[in-house]
Amino acid sequence: MSFASLIEMINKLPHERAFICPKCGRRDAVNVLSIYTDCPQCSTRQKLRGYGAVGGEVEDVIDAVLKWMGSGASLDAAMKRKEELDHYSD
Ligand SMILES: [Zn+2]
Repeated sequence: MSFASLIEMINKLPHERAFICPKCGRRDAVNVLSIYTDCPQCSTRQKLRGYGAVGGEVEDVIDAVLKWMGSGASLDAAMKRKEELDHYSD
């Protein structure tokens, strides 16, 4: 896979993932990066993603970037770049 197609996949990834509770049938949605969710109606826990260590999903790439952003000064610098992207790239 090329970087260009990976970037396109990230750009097209919706922020929410729809799910149907296997126990009560309730339909809902959670953030697409969530690995687990608890049904708001019957509290049944449901796994929504593969384990991060496997690394086969575009969500895993986003997790890797989030980890890479680090903390402290590194995170501050990454968030400064995000502000630039949010304000000047559209
Ligand atoms: Zn349920």
